[in-house]
Amino acid sequence: MSSSVLISEVGPRDGLQSVDAFMPTVEKKAWISALYAAGVREIEVSSFVPARLLPQLADAAEVVEHALSLPGLTVMALVPNLRGAQAAVAAGVHKLTIPVSASQAHSMANVRKSREQMIEEVAQIVAYRNAHAPRVHIEANVATAFGCTIQGEVPEDEVVELACALVACGADETGLSDTTGYANPAQIRRLFRRVRQAIGHKLGAAHLHNTRGLGLANCLAAYEEGVRTFDSSQAGLGGCPYAPGASGNVVTEDLVFMFESMGVKTGIDLNRLMQAREILKRGLPGEPLYGMLPDAGLPKTFIAASTDATPDGASDDVSAQLPLAGIRVLEFSHMVMGPTCGLVLADLGAEVIKLEPIEGDSTRQLLGSGSGFFPLFNRNKKSIAVNLKHEEGRAIVEKLLGSVDVVIENFKQGTLDKFSLGAEQVRMRHPRLVYASLKGFLAGPYEHSTALDEVVQMMGGLAYMTGRKGDPLRAGSSVNDIMGGMFAAIAILAALREREQTGQGQLVQSALFENNVFLVAQHMMQFAMTGKPAAPMPNRISAWGIYDVFTVRDQEQIFLAVVSDTQWKIFCDCFGFESLYQDPLFKTNNDRVRQRERLMPILRERLSVFSASELAGQFEAAGLPFAPIEKPEHLFEDPHLLASGGLVPMQLPDGRPTQTVLLPIAMNGRRLGLRNNPPALGADVKDLLQSLGFDEASVMRLQSEGVLNRSSMEESQQS
Ligand code: ZN
Repeated sequence: MSSSVLISEVGPRDGLQSVDAFMPTVEKKAWISALYAAGVREIEVSSFVPARLLPQLADAAEVVEHALSLPGLTVMALVPNLRGAQAAVAAGVHKLTIPVSASQAHSMANVRKSREQMIEEVAQIVAYRNAHAPRVHIEANVATAFGCTIQGEVPEDEVVELACALVACGADETGLSDTTGYANPAQIRRLFRRVRQAIGHKLGAAHLHNTRGLGLANCLAAYEEGVRTFDSSQAGLGGCPYAPGASGNVVTEDLVFMFESMGVKTGIDLNRLMQAREILKRGLPGEPLYGMLPDAGLPKTFIAASTDATPDGASDDVSAQLPLAGIRVLEFSHMVMGPTCGLVLADLGAEVIKLEPIEGDSTRQLLGSGSGFFPLFNRNKKSIAVNLKHEEGRAIVEKLLGSVDVVIENFKQGTLDKFSLGAEQVRMRHPRLVYASLKGFLAGPYEHSTALDEVVQMMGGLAYMTGRKGDPLRAGSSVNDIMGGMFAAIAILAALREREQTGQGQLVQSALFENNVFLVAQHMMQFAMTGKPAAPMPNRISAWGIYDVFTVRDQEQIFLAVVSDTQWKIFCDCFGFESLYQDPLFKTNNDRVRQRERLMPILRERLSVFSASELAGQFEAAGLPFAPIEKPEHLFEDPHLLASGGLVPMQLPDGRPTQTVLLPIAMNGRRLGLRNNPPALGADVKDLLQSLGFDEASVMRLQSEGVLNRSSMEESQQS
């Protein structure tokens, strides 16, 4: 599972316009074909400027024509003005890129137009596009966004303003260019973040020159700010190589290598990309070709992220689009609280590895009310079972720790300390890790007590509030476990966000008791406000005149509510209760609250002649609130859940099919779906070990020595 980026190759434009030699058109075409063959899918192939200004690119139309013959390639061209745009559109390009300098001085020197005149030029190009070529995409780039050789510093406010102005006049996207190689990673982060806040998804590519060697560092900083399109140039051609020996643009080969070795997909085959350099050597004799990777070669251990589609390639792609793609989580947990935390992260797209004891998470074997825990809270996760008592087992976990962003644990105090896996020990060795500890209590006098959801519901006032007076009752679900896990996930996301700034992880904690107290806090505040203790919910003084469960014909039950005076009128009209409506003692909601002891028996008697479904029909038709008293097993057939995709097919660990419930959120209207069934014990042991560099023979040895589990498939083959 990984993220992906789009590498937009600008060498044929940015590179060839700055070299002295003229590359023959036939070689340009061969180069573009070779880039395409390597997997490059967006190329800025030329620039439409008067031939007397850039004779090297006088063949722009011919080059575009060739590029258009390559299926699936986005063909881009740079245009400085409307006339260039018209020529580029006539040639058939898919995408126009228009540089607009943030530096007023640079703009005047470069195109003899002020920034404001250039904004006007972009507006004219947009109008032309809208009228003549509505499918052509327009990218207006803020050039000299990070500094300028003529005026020096470029105020960041002006860059943000310019980006907004370009989007406002109709550009489809706006990227930032470090035209002069002045940027540093901190500045990149700051400015990309500000511009994203200002223009959102219209933030386009990062075009970063490598004049002073910071190109890759700047690209990484932009990536960490969420930028996913990068301009670069094969062999580092182009840019503004003022310093002797410095390359111009970010080198495509090095950039692809950085991303691929990080596990970020580029879709580009590095070996084929390096072969394309041969055409440059031929077409531009004597021109220096840059690149650290081409000089050093690929390391032996290199594994490309974009290997050809594997059988599970489809599900990988789905994860790549999820918000937490690229975040790796190691989960030491059991029961409900820790697994819920992992589930939230997994559904959001993180790669969550459940590390189980060699005999398996005991939750897998729970009966009765615990039998739904494992299948509900462990979907979309991977499983590996490791013997922590074995030294080699601990070494494997240590390797895994080096590869993850987050650790989740919900074991008893001290359990993991014995294996050097306690929070302090792990954080000492891996300071970037976010370590989430989920317990019964946060630090304080109670912290060493054993807590369970029901225990804290009793001691935390929730059971008192839920049952009838004198009959404390736990809530009908593991509310503290689930919410405690959810709050831990929120804290983890915040810690990851903070790590982006500080580079440091941290310990985050969440606890059942504090969660329960938070739930009961509304009743504490009621006491603080009124001086009166809150009564248990079933005995409370209702705020609403009618807000009750009614037992009706055939002992069926239904919840009915009439909470406003408008609803009271509708209700009385609907059932012909004219005399009740006319009764001045029942006039307002507060009157009806005061008169509940008189009103409710009347209503209970009058409504008891109806069946629950008759009442539901009347309330539905009248737009009044009501609810059937449903049981969990009936929700599998709930028409709303079925129609809205809130239930999805899943396989239980024993192979039987069922439906499972998704997280109760939608993002851009999309529910976070099921990508993997709850894993069999140790199902991912081989893949995970191979990703850590273990070969098949060592995995088999570790399995036979009981350090690692055998996958259940191998077990069934053996028996
Ligand atoms: Zn450039």
